[in-house]
Amino acid sequence: MKRLCLVSVSDKTGVVPLVQELKALGFEVLSTGGTAALLRSSGLEVTDIASWTGSPEILGGRVKTLHPKVFAGILANLEDPKHREELAHIGAEPIELVVVNLYPFQQVASNPAATPHEVIENIDIGGPSLLRAAAKNHARVTVVVDPQDYGLVLSHLKSNGGVPLSLRRTLALKAFRHTASYDAFIAGELPRFLDMPAPKLPAALAPWLSAEEEPLRYGENPHQWAVFARPRQATGFAGFRQLQGKELSYNNLMDADGAWSAVWDLPGAGVVIVKHANPCGAAVGENPEEAYRLAFSCDPVSAFGGVIAFSSPVDGPAAQAVAEQFAEVVLAPEFTPEALAVFAKKKNLRVLQTPRPTGGFPRLRVVDGGLLVQQADEGFPESFRVVTRRLPSEQEQEALDLAWRMVKHVASNAIVVANHRQTLGIGGGQPSRVDACRIAVSRAQAFGHALAGAVAASDAFFPFPDGVRVLAEAGITCIAQPGGSIRDDEVVQVADELGVSMVFTGRRHFRH
Ligand code: 5GP
Repeated sequence: MKRLCLVSVSDKTGVVPLVQELKALGFEVLSTGGTAALLRSSGLEVTDIASWTGSPEILGGRVKTLHPKVFAGILANLEDPKHREELAHIGAEPIELVVVNLYPFQQVASNPAATPHEVIENIDIGGPSLLRAAAKNHARVTVVVDPQDYGLVLSHLKSNGGVPLSLRRTLALKAFRHTASYDAFIAGELPRFLDMPAPKLPAALAPWLSAEEEPLRYGENPHQWAVFARPRQATGFAGFRQLQGKELSYNNLMDADGAWSAVWDLPGAGVVIVKHANPCGAAVGENPEEAYRLAFSCDPVSAFGGVIAFSSPVDGPAAQAVAEQFAEVVLAPEFTPEALAVFAKKKNLRVLQTPRPTGGFPRLRVVDGGLLVQQADEGFPESFRVVTRRLPSEQEQEALDLAWRMVKHVASNAIVVANHRQTLGIGGGQPSRVDACRIAVSRAQAFGHALAGAVAASDAFFPFPDGVRVLAEAGITCIAQPGGSIRDDEVVQVADELGVSMVFTGRRHFRH
């Protein structure tokens, strides 16, 4: 019996060799305008869908494959005599393989110069219908949406004469996820071109709908299932490459993401150590080893078994320093061969090479029965405004900058005590700000840090002056906070009385 396949692709990657092989396997290839032209120019004989259906491509390509012969050929269940009869009645034949990828809507919509007309014309209609029809009838039909799957499908056709059901099922689900993601992009992007308010959810979800899911051993705890989904061409943290070590856990991924985003906010080449989703040490140094040692010394007890992020390439000495303690994960943009040789001796240590931040991913959080979507808290547009009589010295300003940049990454209520090179004490996750101040101070004191002349940053305003008193009593001379409390005057007055300088940043950085 004649074997039919339909090939209609916008992304023409790999289509010529694919069709060469399909022809060699005896397939008759049905194709649309541009795809057929390319295949013919490569010397391959293909059948135009238009001549096969007797219905020309019309409306400038809006209607190419939308024809009962095509869809019956894909959707027919050949085990059903009625289907076979109806197929024959319209002169159609069963199609066994559907190779389709879609108009590049996303690419076109992300071009700032795109016009509404162009964007609308790049909404594929026939393609998703072909994919969905073939995916629905995966009991008989193979659907291929991703050029990366051509090789696998061909290898089965060559060695077994057909594609096994298990792979047809996998490919069908891939096709449905692809069309779901494609439509979500349209729902998210199109409103911009129609002068309509853009709904946030479709745009936030679209990249994840077709992402590959890696099963994790478990979630935050062993009784919770979990998967890690990342698009194949992931950017940002999830574009990491694991170079060695044990399988990453859910908690490793959470902490690594936290450490990674914090380290890029440091004002220089630095290190951040994270435990349980909170930094327990952050520092900048002349070199990565020094930065690591300073970050580690902030709270060596908490840093045990931590996740360590570097923003500069890790060299041999830095790796040696890391190897002195137990760490779960180390991540950096680069590692020297010397560093990798040191880590290779620590088989379990997970080493991740991570890209730099690109930003722009909305953050998703689930509440029971609801979904929260928000813009990520990125960047530091704020500037410091001194509100006290005492002005911060140059060194205090540097320290304030470091503390302020780190406090944003600590769970609220958060207080970070620091000097110009390292955090000295971090108090976070407290329902009361004064307690966060006490914890930051007592941690710093517990590890012998001198607090005279140190600074503090507060992620949100001081509702009362009590926190300022706690910090000043410990020797802190300078405080950064957003301001905005109804008691700001009182708080500033107390700072003045205590001889502390205070700056208002005008921007709050809650993190929950
Ligand atoms: P070609 O370059 O072969 O002319 O077009 C290939 C593209 O057309 C594929 O991306 C496919 O999804 C899309 N396509 C196939 N059939 C139809 C149709 O009936 N209408 C529309 N709008 N697009 C189609």
